[in-house]
Amino acid sequence: MSSCPSTSSPLPSVDGVMRCPEAQTLVARHGRDAVVNMVRRVLAQARAEQVTIAAGPLVLAEVSARLALSAQPSLRAVFNLTGTVLHTNLGRAVLPAEAIEAMVDAARGAVNLEYDLELGERGERDAHLEPMLCELTGAEAATVVNNNAAALLLVLNTLAMGKTVPTSRGELVEIGGSFRLPDIMARSGCRLLEVGTTNRTHLHDFAQAIGPDSGLVLKVHASNFVIEGFSASVPEAELAGLCRRRGVPFVVDLGSGALVDLSRFGLPHEPTVAQALKNGADLVTFSTDKLLGGPQAGVIAGRADLVAQVRRNPMKRALRVDKLTIAALAAVLRLYADPDRLVQRLPTLRLLTRTQGELQALAQRVRPALQSALGAAHDVQILDCDSQIGSGALPVRTLPSAGLAIHPGSAALALAFRRLPVPVLGRLHNGRFLLDLRCLQDEDGFVAQLPRLAAAS
Ligand SMILES: *Cc1c(COP(=O)(O)O)cnc(C)c1O
Repeated sequence: MSSCPSTSSPLPSVDGVMRCPEAQTLVARHGRDAVVNMVRRVLAQARAEQVTIAAGPLVLAEVSARLALSAQPSLRAVFNLTGTVLHTNLGRAVLPAEAIEAMVDAARGAVNLEYDLELGERGERDAHLEPMLCELTGAEAATVVNNNAAALLLVLNTLAMGKTVPTSRGELVEIGGSFRLPDIMARSGCRLLEVGTTNRTHLHDFAQAIGPDSGLVLKVHASNFVIEGFSASVPEAELAGLCRRRGVPFVVDLGSGALVDLSRFGLPHEPTVAQALKNGADLVTFSTDKLLGGPQAGVIAGRADLVAQVRRNPMKRALRVDKLTIAALAAVLRLYADPDRLVQRLPTLRLLTRTQGELQALAQRVRPALQSALGAAHDVQILDCDSQIGSGALPVRTLPSAGLAIHPGSAALALAFRRLPVPVLGRLHNGRFLLDLRCLQDEDGFVAQLPRLAAAS
C-alpha cells in the first residue's frame, strides 16, 4: 500500500490523498463522503485549470477550507445596526428569554398541541392562545395563522369569495415588495371595489359602494405612509356603524397590532387592537412579530361566529402555525399580563425605549475600539441620528438615537463589516458608514471581533 503522496506528478489520486493523516481529522469532523467528494472536486478543478498541486497535504488544506465554509449555516446571527428596529429582512422582533425557553421545551419532545389533557381527547391548537388574545384585546374569539398576510388572505377568502370588497382607494397599499393588497384580493377570490379617491374618501362613498354582493368592507391601517394636505378618511366607528346597518362584516387590517398604547412608554401612538374592536370592527388582523414583539404569526380576532367560519375554511390548515410558534407567542402574551414590567422583559419595547443619552454613552464606550481597529485611514465620530421603528410603523415618527459614523465609508468597508464572524449591518450615507447603536445588545461580543477589521483592511 502506497502512502500519502508528496511530490508525485502532476496530481495525486483521490485514494492517495485520502491516505494522508490529515484526511482522518477531516473525516472525523465532516464525514467520509463529504471529504472524498470535496477532494475529488478540488482535484478536478486543478486538472481543468492545469494547476499542479502535487502534495496531498496541500490538497487537504484546500479541502478543509472549503468544507469549513460550506459547513457554516446560511442563517446566522447578525448585528442589526441599521437603525430600523423591526427590520423585516433581519427577522423583525427579537424574542424574550421566556419565549426562547418555551420554544426549546416544545422542540425537545411531544406536546399537547391538539390534545385536551382533562378530557383525554382531541383538542384545538388555538386553545393555547385564544383565551389570552381575547383577554388582551376584548375580542370574543381569535385564531392564529402564519402571518398577517395569511390572516388577511384567509378572512377575505372565507367571507368574500366571489363577492366585492369595498376598500378606500387611499388604502390600497404595498407593504414590502410582495404584499400588494389588490393582488391578495385577487388570490382570495374577491373583487376589489375601489371607493373614493386617493386623498379623500367619505362615508357616502361607502354607502354607495356597499351592495347585496359585498362580502365585507376592509379598512387597512395606513402604516407605512401618510397622506398629508387635502385628505379625508372615514373614521372607523362611522364606517363600522354603516356596515352594521347594512349587515356586512367590517374588517380592519391593523398590520402592526399594538396590544397596549405605546404612548404610555413615551413612544408614538399606534392604534391598538382593542381600540379597533371597540370602534366596531367585526374582525381585526395583525402581525405578532411587529410591535407586539413576538414570533412571526398573524392573528384574526373579533366576532365568535366569524372566527368560527374562518376556522372551518380548509385553507386554515395550510396556513396554521406550528408548536414552536405557539410556545413562543404564548410566552410573549403572558408578559403582557404585567404591563409595568413589559419594558424590561420584552426586547422590542426595551430597544424602542432606549434613550438617546443611554445610546450616546454606549457610543462613547465602543468608539475607541472601533477607531483603533480601523487605524488612521478612517475617522470614527459619535453621531446623533434617528432610528425607525420599522415594519410599517409610521416612518415619519422617528426615535432620537446615537451611533458611530465612519469616514470615509465605502462599499468595501461595509463588506468588511459584513464579513466579520457575526456580520455587522450598517448604512452607507453621504460618504460615511453609519452604525446606529439602538439595537446593539451584546456590546462585549461586538467589541471583541473588531480587531479582525484591521486584518481585513
Ligand atoms: C405588515 C403588514 C401586513 C403584512 O403582515 P405580515 O405579518 O408581514 O404578513 C399587512 N398589512 C399591514 C397594514 C401591515 O402593516
